[in-house]
Amino acid sequence: MGIVDEDVARVRAATDLVAVAGEHMALRRVGARWVGLCPFHAEKTPSFSVNGELGLYYCFGCGAKGDAITFVREMEHLDFVEAVEKLAGRAGVTLRYDDAAGGRDHQRRKRIYETLERAVAWYHERLLSAPDAAAARRYLRRERGYDGDVVRRYRLGWAPGGRDQLVRALGVPPPALVDAGLATVDESGRYVDFFRERLLFPIFEAGGNPVGAGGRLLPGGRGPKYKNTAGTSVYDKSRLLYGLNWAKKAVVDSGRVVVCEGYTDVIGLHCAGVGEAVATCGTALADGHIRLLTNFARRVVLAYDADAAGQAAAEHYYEWERRFDVDIRVAALPPASDPADLARSDPEALARAVEEARPYLAFRLERLLARADLSGPEGRARAAESATALVAGHPNELVRDQYIMQVSDRCGVAPDRLRAMAEGLRREAASGGRTARTAPGTGRSARPAGPAAGAAPAAGAAAGGPVVGRPAPVAVSGPELEALRVAVHRPEEVADRLEVVLFAHPLARSAFEVLSASTTLHEAIEAADPQTAELLQRVAVEDSDTDADDVMVRLVERAGRRALMELQSEMRRADPADQAGWVPTVAWLKLTLEMLRPEDPRERPAAKEAERSLVGWLVSR
Ligand SMILES: [Zn+2]
Repeated sequence: MGIVDEDVARVRAATDLVAVAGEHMALRRVGARWVGLCPFHAEKTPSFSVNGELGLYYCFGCGAKGDAITFVREMEHLDFVEAVEKLAGRAGVTLRYDDAAGGRDHQRRKRIYETLERAVAWYHERLLSAPDAAAARRYLRRERGYDGDVVRRYRLGWAPGGRDQLVRALGVPPPALVDAGLATVDESGRYVDFFRERLLFPIFEAGGNPVGAGGRLLPGGRGPKYKNTAGTSVYDKSRLLYGLNWAKKAVVDSGRVVVCEGYTDVIGLHCAGVGEAVATCGTALADGHIRLLTNFARRVVLAYDADAAGQAAAEHYYEWERRFDVDIRVAALPPASDPADLARSDPEALARAVEEARPYLAFRLERLLARADLSGPEGRARAAESATALVAGHPNELVRDQYIMQVSDRCGVAPDRLRAMAEGLRREAASGGRTARTAPGTGRSARPAGPAAGAAPAAGAAAGGPVVGRPAPVAVSGPELEALRVAVHRPEEVADRLEVVLFAHPLARSAFEVLSASTTLHEAIEAADPQTAELLQRVAVEDSDTDADDVMVRLVERAGRRALMELQSEMRRADPADQAGWVPTVAWLKLTLEMLRPEDPRERPAAKEAERSLVGWLVSR
């Protein structure tokens, strides 16, 4: 079921993996391959390799591997069909389906995107020129400071009043509008517009398809201030982030994503030069968003007043840091300001606040101590107590200790007193079960943080993130590994020269066998057992600049020596009267082995001949 194999192969052939991966991560060319920091596990030195020509990647750190389809699946959390569809769209390949249901589903999604695209264009046109949108235009210009460029860049729209203007204007069958979340059916069975008299912020998925919109009332309008698309098959607010389609590149480039609360905050941050801004769509930041974001960056900066969220939020953040191996920071915005306003009044302060974002605990302590009266002993003691309570909530003992020292400094209380207080609070919390989930007394489950972090565990797998496994113990090495590399990268140089008998390692053997039986590397990888597939994937991203002739000589030499040892041991075990029977073969084998490495270049043709006959003999043995 799904897309016909031939079309999948066409998509693979038409897709440039380097370009696809490059949209999610920075890749640097090293020789014939590309390397970068692995998007599937946390690392500081690049072990993620891409072979552009073969369209395969392999991570030497976590063992993540695959082709463009696997990459898109894991990066964007798509199923196989969705990933192929996405790449097909990109490469301009038309897909055929071998079952009616898959085809229908695909057709349905495609129709929703098309319907939304037409609606976005229609609403946008209304905002730009319709007389009834004059108030909206005025609001955007005066209250928000948006010029025409901003309105066009974000494709803002105006949903007019009236019952069914969109339904009548769009020329799309009304049920399709309902599917796309643009219309509903009223009590009398008539199709009516979902958005009416609202300013529209169209929402696009990371890949750029429109999936819905957020509608804002103009000041003085009736109803809830915001109304978002609801309940369609392409709009899932629990894993959707407004602005990611525009921010993606900046996010990947900087390794940082800035999360704010509203559409206008995103636009404000972008306009203030912080291109990495995204926002949740009418919902609180949740696991699904963080998981989505870890595909693009490891640092998440929260650009909203997180102080109010308090300890419940802190536990969330610590949990995300541990589970998703992300670094959560908070931008200290001036009190009672949001990014949208600050972007207009003081864009530099906004950009600076994001730049100077700090860990959540540091941010909360700073707020607390700034409010405290540290001028007298009573005030300092109270501040020390509240601050220590905050510190006690952090799951990592080393991190707690550092903050204890700061609090001790600021409040003039001995660090040992504060430490004892913090541990007492933790014991209390643990026995009450309140924070036991994130705070095992010993800090056992805590991820080491700070400069001593080292290699963090690949939390993604446990959290249901990208499928990463430990690399299998692959021990193929030396000429056997090099020969496989040449066979994969420059097959013409070893065609008709390699034989399975030349490989001693069982894995190398099976890799070679499956390679010889397949017409393409992809076919071979698909046909291979998991360990062999792993080896082939790895070989595919490894450089191979070794000389094929040299590899052949070393490989044949080794195989010849193994055969010689076997012959000699057979000979020793044989009846002394029969031993003479082995002598000619042993002598020939020794001579042939010597001929493999001629000192005089003029003997090269003879060496090649020796190689051929030795391989022939090994095969027939
Ligand atoms: Zn990796």
